Amino acid sequence: MAMCPNCGKEIQTPSKEWDLGKIHVKQYECCGKKFREYEKKV
Ligand SMILES: [Zn+2]
Repeated sequence: MAMCPNCGKEIQTPSKEWDLGKIHVKQYECCGKKFREYEKKV
């Protein structure tokens, strides 16, 4: 879950997600903008 930096709304489902080496990237979309959240893989 991520929070939109623009309107503060919580978004549960990423529109896209992928792995980047040891990082798992989740991309969210809101207010016509995209923002990302990074998770370290164990
Ligand atoms: Zn928003």
